[in-house]
Parts: sequence; structure tokens; C-alpha cells
Amino acid sequence: MRLSKIKLAGFKSFVDPTTIELTSQRVAIVGPNGCGKSNTIDAVRWVMGESSAKYLRGESMEDVIFNGSSARKPVGQASVELVFDNSDGTLGGQYAQYAEIAVKRLAARDGQSQYFLNGTRCRRRDITDIFLGTGLGPRSYAIIEQGMITRLIEAKPEELRVYLEEAAGISKYKERRRETENRIRHTRENLERLDDLREEVA
Ligand code: ATP
Repeated sequence: MRLSKIKLAGFKSFVDPTTIELTSQRVAIVGPNGCGKSNTIDAVRWVMGESSAKYLRGESMEDVIFNGSSARKPVGQASVELVFDNSDGTLGGQYAQYAEIAVKRLAARDGQSQYFLNGTRCRRRDITDIFLGTGLGPRSYAIIEQGMITRLIEAKPEELRVYLEEAAGISKYKERRRETENRIRHTRENLERLDDLREEVA
């Protein structure tokens, strides 16, 4: 599976609809300071479900929407779409039939985000699920930004374990386990409430 296109509109400095074609296995983005290189990486993180403005180098989530320049008015929404070439069938299961997988996020200034998978509206969770255990994802090791190597060297053992678990593909199962444990806890609480009610009625 390979990221083949990044489509942006209204995202940070990319106010006009822009398509970045990634035509080979290795791609370098070069340009002068402030031209938008890091904004491209922020876009990739954002569309994969990043929900912390800090990780997108902003103060609030609204900061991802183009906020105007001397020549242009601000816009009302940002959208980013990632197109993955899945012709090698890396993404199996229900996705195996698709040679291309497109994930898209759209956000307006009210803070609401909408997610789309191959053009169909979906939940944020559907997007994060695709990438869990693949090494890609908003905070995964596939995106190595400035300062990350230092952070890895200085990381505590439990922080390093998170990366190892993602590389080994077990983070997906840990996440499922966490969700299931939450559901069990809720069910137990409901049962306790039910017992209280039965005692009151008896
Ligand atoms: P450097 O080489 O210095 O790291 P870079 O190419 O990575 O630079 P970016 O950080 O991607 O640059 O882009 C910074 C530019 O994006 C700045 O000019 C900033 O004003 C602009 N920018 C960031 N957020 C927005 C926004 N919401 N609306 C408009 N412009 C924005």
C-alpha cells in the first residue's frame, strides 16, 4: 500500500484546491522556509484522525483552516483527502476489493469534522481502524518529524513499548481489549443499578 495523492483545500496555507502526486516510493518535499512543507505533514496527520491541535502545531483545531492572508479572506472549511494505492492488496478483508482507498476529512469552523471512506460518510473510528497496526496513523512512527529521534532516544521504556506494539501489529488488539473492558464495566454498572432498583421494588 502506498500513499499516492494528497488533496488539500482550505487547509492551513493551502487555500486553493491542491493535489500533490506522490509518484514513486521515495518523495522529497523541498522549498523555502514557510512554504508549507510541514503543513503537508500536518494534513496527513489530521486526515488520519488527529484530534489534538498541539500535534498539528496549532492552538485550536480551527487553526487548520486557512485564516486569511494580506491578499485573501479566510475560508470556512478545510478538507484533506489521502489516496492510497492498494493494488498490492496490503489492506485485506473488506478493503481487498479496492485498488484505491481514499480517506477524507472535512471540518468547518464550528469544530465539527466529517470523515469519508471512498466517498461514503463514515465515523472517525472507521478511519483510525484502517491504520491501526499498519505503522501509519496520526501519531505513528511512520511520520518522523523534527525532534522525534531525540524523543525516541530519551523515551521511557513504556513509551518505547507503544512503538514496538504498533510495529508488531498488536496495538489493534490492545485497543479492542480496552473497548471491550469499557463495555464490560458499563454493563456491570448497569447490572448494579438494576439490582438496586429490584431491591427498592421488592
Ligand atoms: P520551515 O522550512 O521553516 O519549517 P515549512 O515549509 O515547513 O517551513 P510550514 O510550517 O509548513 O512551512 O508553513 C508555514 C506557513 O503556513 C506560514 O506562512 C503560516 O503563516 C502558514 N499557515 C499556517 N497555518 C495557516 C492558516 N491556518 N492559514 C493560513 N496560513 C497558515
